[in-house]
Amino acid sequence: MTRNDCQVLDAQDPLAALRDLFTVPAGVIYLDGNSLGACPKAAPDRVRDVVEREWAVDLIRSWNTAGWFELPRRVGDKIARLVGAHAGELVATDSTSINLYKVLAAALNIAAADRPGCTRIVSERSNFPTDLYIAESLCRERGLALDLVEPAQIAGALASDVAVLTLTHVNYRSGAMHDMLGVTAAAHAAGALVVWDLAHSAGAVPVDLHAADADFAVGCGYKYLNGGPGAPAFVWVHPRHADRFWQPLAGWWGHAAPFEFTPDYRPAAGIARYQCGTQPIISLAALECGVDTVLAAEPCGGMAALREKSLALADLFIELVERRCASHGLALVTPRDHARRGSQVCFSRSDGAYAIVQALIARGVIGDFRAGDGTLHPDILRFGFAPLYLRFVDVWDAVEQLRDVLESAEWREARFQQRAAVT
Ligand SMILES: *Cc1c(COP(=O)(O)O)cnc(C)c1O
Repeated sequence: MTRNDCQVLDAQDPLAALRDLFTVPAGVIYLDGNSLGACPKAAPDRVRDVVEREWAVDLIRSWNTAGWFELPRRVGDKIARLVGAHAGELVATDSTSINLYKVLAAALNIAAADRPGCTRIVSERSNFPTDLYIAESLCRERGLALDLVEPAQIAGALASDVAVLTLTHVNYRSGAMHDMLGVTAAAHAAGALVVWDLAHSAGAVPVDLHAADADFAVGCGYKYLNGGPGAPAFVWVHPRHADRFWQPLAGWWGHAAPFEFTPDYRPAAGIARYQCGTQPIISLAALECGVDTVLAAEPCGGMAALREKSLALADLFIELVERRCASHGLALVTPRDHARRGSQVCFSRSDGAYAIVQALIARGVIGDFRAGDGTLHPDILRFGFAPLYLRFVDVWDAVEQLRDVLESAEWREARFQQRAAVT
């Protein structure tokens, strides 16, 4: 494999033209689309139009004339196509953390009604912390226990007193991916409901919520959906559950008839009740541009084609790092098995992981660092592979930069040791 071979792969790539949908700054190789997706070229014009015409000129009329009120559901219908949900089942709204609170609370209500005596939520110890904090808060509120286990212990933890299993499909650190179908079936066999967090899945790997018979799902708008910093997230509830209970943040946007302004709450049917209050229209408009970039892959094979390219990019990265940086103590943490990994790759190193990432960023290769816990989980260098805008030649160039940083020991310089507030 040479740089020229990578250029040939790019020339043959059926998705290559999609890179043109994004602003990719010159001199930057962006391997952090798993944390904040790149900016769609359509987004600045769309946001300007929302502000300068829909808001400034049309003013409040835009709630009706510009479709503002329907926007969370319209964008939700588009995201539904990416995760195996049907139109009308998913809404783009609030943050992942807030949506998780809503669905976990609803799931606990359903469990309490159907299987009284369930006292536990089970999750994974290395789940994204906000997911654990939200679960912990609900457990405190309701006098339940939160059981945190390692992935291999999940099946064994599913006893009859488990109300809800809440997992992130693709682990934010390791990139390891759960078998959504198998895990959901095992949880259901034990009587538990399953909440899936698709933050690192939506727009990155094919997901089929109905095929998996999942119960609830949430996901993030600003990662592989390219919705922009702090973009609204999304929430999906299986139709068999959607009308059973109020979600706990029963705001007027989830009311059956919000503009009747009645003093009592009557929840809307279906997913509409999972909205709370007035939504950020400017952010939703930007999110729609981001979701449209993923849907733009549909004529060239859609999520299956994106997945194939993302695995090829990641496989190439692993192969090149292991060959070109062989003597530098980088150990692959992400599973090699395609069926067990998402769209990112991470390596651990006993020291210098943070500084190496900083030195790479200074050279325009943007990945990120995630701190370990000093025991089971080591410090890692994390690299995301967003197939919409990454080329095979970018993978080659990134590994050559990594090799340079390691060979020159440039990462030991004092300027790369300083920790910023956001890593
Ligand atoms: C990114 C991410 C979040 C982010 O939640 P916010 O409410 O948007 O801050 C939550 N959970 C997981 C698993 C994530 O990867």
